[in-house]
Amino acid sequence: MVKNLAVMTSGGDSPGMNAAVRAVVRRALDRGIGVYGIYYGYEGLFQGSDRIRRLNWQDVDNVIQHGGTFLGTARSEHFKTVEGRRRAVENILDLGIEALVVIGGDGSLMGAHVLSTEWPEHVESVVAAHPGQYPPACEIPMLQVVGLPGSIDNDLSGTDMAIGVDSALNHIVRAIDDLSSTAASHQRTFVIETMGRNCGYLALAGTLATGASWMLIPEEGLELRWHQRMVETIDKAGKMGRPHRMVLVAEGARRPDGLVIESNEVRKILAERLGAEVRLTVLGHVQRGGPPTAFDRILSTRLGVAAVDLLLDEPDVIHRHMVGIRTNRVVATPLIEVVEKSREVHREIENGNFKKAVELRGKSFQSMLDLVNTLTGIGPGQESGEQGKVVIMTGGADSPGMNAALSIAARYLFNQGVQVIGSRDEFYGMIHGDFIDLDWNELIGWVGHPSSNIGTARSFVNEEDFGRIAENIRKSNIKGILAIGGWGTYLHIQRLMEKRDSFPEFNIPIMLIPATIDNNLPCTDFCIGSDTALNNIVEAVDKIRHTAGATRRAFIVETMGKECGFLAFMGALATGAEKAYLPEKGMSLAELNKDVVELRDGFECGKRMVIYMHNENASRHYTTDFLRRLLEEESKDEFEVRSVVLGHVQRGGFPTAFDRIIACRLAAEAARTLLRSMKDISSEVLVFGLSEGAIKSCPLSEAMEKMDCLHERPKVQWFLDLYPMAHSLAKSGPL
Ligand code: ADP
Repeated sequence: MVKNLAVMTSGGDSPGMNAAVRAVVRRALDRGIGVYGIYYGYEGLFQGSDRIRRLNWQDVDNVIQHGGTFLGTARSEHFKTVEGRRRAVENILDLGIEALVVIGGDGSLMGAHVLSTEWPEHVESVVAAHPGQYPPACEIPMLQVVGLPGSIDNDLSGTDMAIGVDSALNHIVRAIDDLSSTAASHQRTFVIETMGRNCGYLALAGTLATGASWMLIPEEGLELRWHQRMVETIDKAGKMGRPHRMVLVAEGARRPDGLVIESNEVRKILAERLGAEVRLTVLGHVQRGGPPTAFDRILSTRLGVAAVDLLLDEPDVIHRHMVGIRTNRVVATPLIEVVEKSREVHREIENGNFKKAVELRGKSFQSMLDLVNTLTGIGPGQESGEQGKVVIMTGGADSPGMNAALSIAARYLFNQGVQVIGSRDEFYGMIHGDFIDLDWNELIGWVGHPSSNIGTARSFVNEEDFGRIAENIRKSNIKGILAIGGWGTYLHIQRLMEKRDSFPEFNIPIMLIPATIDNNLPCTDFCIGSDTALNNIVEAVDKIRHTAGATRRAFIVETMGKECGFLAFMGALATGAEKAYLPEKGMSLAELNKDVVELRDGFECGKRMVIYMHNENASRHYTTDFLRRLLEEESKDEFEVRSVVLGHVQRGGFPTAFDRIIACRLAAEAARTLLRSMKDISSEVLVFGLSEGAIKSCPLSEAMEKMDCLHERPKVQWFLDLYPMAHSLAKSGPL
């Protein structure tokens, strides 16, 4: 059984590494294991001495919100040599470290694998060289190593996402949003270089999330006259009236001869052929910097905990594994397999086997690539309306990303010869015949717009309204409906279905896309808007943390979510808040009593700030205000208590990259299915969702069965599985 482990960050830094170290340290301490922090990666392991220090619970207080890595990182030439690794082994033996958790890219993971496989010979040699220095008890027969994927490029096999990717992608998306306004003012074309030496993930996802006009990535084999199609597309986009054109170039994109394409070369080609000024922006290291996103903090935390659990729960197995996330589940893969497969993609690219390279990147990479290729290749349909007419609506409270879904679905359908109109304010337009004509060019820009540009509402549909809806469907010759919204929208569609006998007009296919910040819908792990809301919460709590001054303070932060605790819980996990009060768990006096004791203990242990997240419906009586007054009374003037109701700030702002991407993927699939159903003259009503990493659909009736209708949340909620782990990390110290 491991008694001491060490954790390090190595190679290139990535946002979220601190959250991973925090999780490793706290999980280990909570499980009674000693933890060392190795400063400056393998170089620190080689140097030893004060580069390897014991870490305690408080050492990882207030680190979760910071970018970079407080342990520091480095590249070590010493460690690449056998002698260097032998010295590292001496340092490990001196401290009785039995397991190593390494957070880094493929080089760092390879280093961990090599060290672990060489371990017995190093130990033998070190012990022989220092007779009597190491009693047998100190000789560790095997060094266990567990890796965590840390790389903004997302070039590692064995995980769908690496630590830092989501933060980097959001930097890219924000930068392109910002460039768009200046580019539009001057009707300009911009070339934007993103990171990604061997992997085009950032440029690919960035293109999808911003509606960029063209992209160049390493995984796509370019034809000899690769510039021709690019120039033609950009030229056409300009002539069609697009106010700006963006071309994303991954730094590792290659020409057909295998040489890297310089982004400035792309700029020059476009400027010459278009006869216009083209600007270049190299995003560079800003992509690595800044605070990690909610996703990166949660991913790091889950993986850090999983690394420690793997070591302790399976003590008899030799661990040389990386823990990663696949289809929203933590999985362990042998380090050597991760490194070899990651490098295999690189080799396939070098050898010009692009199809194989894309296949190795995985299904979601492939589907994003297909989608980008479809979208960049399409224009408005030749004879709009040839395939019938579809109405799109956005319903319920507004949620960021609705416009992205609307834009993709409408453009996809337009391109296939379908006429698309928007129903103003969800069902209001359907009831009153108030439809909005959608414009192709405007739609492209909507991908990043907040809220819904056709209006959204919590509609009231009275019995007599159904006749009006039927009449408008008939009059406007509507052949299909695509609805983007929350539970209220699902219920309205259900009522339409129930009235099909009375109104045959309702016998048309209907596709539902889940969009609500509350993330309370069935058949999907994530609803459009929930990631943006979560990041809004995280940013607000980070700001609250900045106010930690001389006084000791407890904050109660109230989040939205109705009867679903997703935002409060994930917000707590991502900000390191001490506690989350959730409707699913309820609140009791006995629990509050315990919390008050823990709170006082926390301040006594030296905490300066404690944060409690409180879902708006966690309890009917123990409200945010009640909690504030309770804690104030119990503080005995030893600390201050404040409450913050985040309110509508949670809904606002530009959608995050993740919300845009799932919106695009869901919308494309829903639009494709709708078209097929229209052709088949089917009247199916399907709900779309992202579950187990894939876009899936199921009949609305099946989705209804999975819903706890009384509490308006799914009967099974995946995030609640993380609840025990969250508490073990956030309390004031190990029990
Ligand atoms: P990343 O982990 O981001 O891919 P590097 O490739 O630079 O970054 O690797 C980080 C460090 O890992 C290197 O500086 C080196 O010390 C160690 N390392 C990389 N490859 C090996 C190897 N094959 N054997 C031993 N150590 C290695």
